[in-house]
Amino acid sequence: LTILGLESSCDDTAAAVVRHTLGSAPEILSSVVFGQTELHSAFGGVVPEIAARAHAEKLDICVERALQEAEMPLGKIDAIAVTAGPGLIGGVISGVMCAKGISAATGIPLIGVNHLAGHALTPRLTDQITYPYLMLLVSGGHCQYLIASGPQEFTRLGGTIDDAPGEAFDKTARLLGLSQPGGPSVEAEARNGDPKRYRFPRPLLDRPDCDLSFSGLKTALMRMRDHVVAEKGGLTRQDRADLCAGFQQAIVDTLAEKTRRALRIYMEQNPNQPTVAVAGGVAANTPIRTALMAVCAEQGAAFCAPPLALCTDNAAMIAYAGLERFRAGDQDGLDLTARPRWPLDKTSPAMLGSGK
Ligand code: ATP
Ligand code: FE
Repeated sequence: LTILGLESSCDDTAAAVVRHTLGSAPEILSSVVFGQTELHSAFGGVVPEIAARAHAEKLDICVERALQEAEMPLGKIDAIAVTAGPGLIGGVISGVMCAKGISAATGIPLIGVNHLAGHALTPRLTDQITYPYLMLLVSGGHCQYLIASGPQEFTRLGGTIDDAPGEAFDKTARLLGLSQPGGPSVEAEARNGDPKRYRFPRPLLDRPDCDLSFSGLKTALMRMRDHVVAEKGGLTRQDRADLCAGFQQAIVDTLAEKTRRALRIYMEQNPNQPTVAVAGGVAANTPIRTALMAVCAEQGAAFCAPPLALCTDNAAMIAYAGLERFRAGDQDGLDLTARPRWPLDKTSPAMLGSGK
């Protein structure tokens, strides 16, 4: 099967071609990502209206390039997978309309993919790990522990009760005058910092479940920053690095401890050969990866983290998630709708998402 994937739910316009023949590893024939960072940089965050316009302008060129790079004419594509939510609705609509247009004109089947399922299935695309596995989905808008048992079967064990870590990284970068997206710039600053100089809270560790909270971190950061500024009249390079290091260490420690708990809960039901996989933009963070790897080693679980470029938004993950659905005999019609919210786990919709 050869699938064309489209992604436009946030600030990356992406198209990719993924091929999978049963019995062999899936192949990413092309994965084109047009970022929009410069378009939004003056505003300190993604502006939905600007994002939607940029997606509408770039999607067709992006699709064309993905097909070219894959050396795949449209005629050889078996299905078109498109992110149908959750995300910024203008962008999602742009992608869905583009995919519907191609489908209507060519008769190629259409598949609406949940963006989060795309992230959650990435470890199967990159490492062919088998169901079930424990997934930590940690991104700009989400943070949750899921048991993945099938392409559309996810059980939620817990997650953030407020902000997502990616959001916290982005806000921290903004508060310290670092560039967006905040994750990579805070990680880079933190490399020269002392994580012990400023002590950040590690919320909810007193609770035995695997729920997390990150909204207090940015308040703590703001207070510490203001305190330093009031005392010294400004932040030195070292102050900034130390603040980043302390902030990042709090996230690392919290994620490590909650992963340990989630893994224990998971192993009660699935004691044999447990695998923990991470995905989502924040999974690109090296200290977070290292800490999770250590937790897995300590608990006797395998650890799987996709390459960095497949952790952040891309269309290869959407193509692959679509491929699994298509293989199961599932597809959508031209009545496919774009959804701003779309929880992966149907049983607890109120707990998911953060308004993105
Ligand atoms: P969602 O997938 O929940 O809809 P999204 O698509 O905006 O959200 P992703 O593209 O998966 O999120 O991830 C982007 C987020 O990842 C940003 O908040 C960014 O700061 C964060 N991020 C990227 N690289 C790193 C890093 N090295 N360390 C920490 N965070 C990172
Ligand atoms: Fe994402």
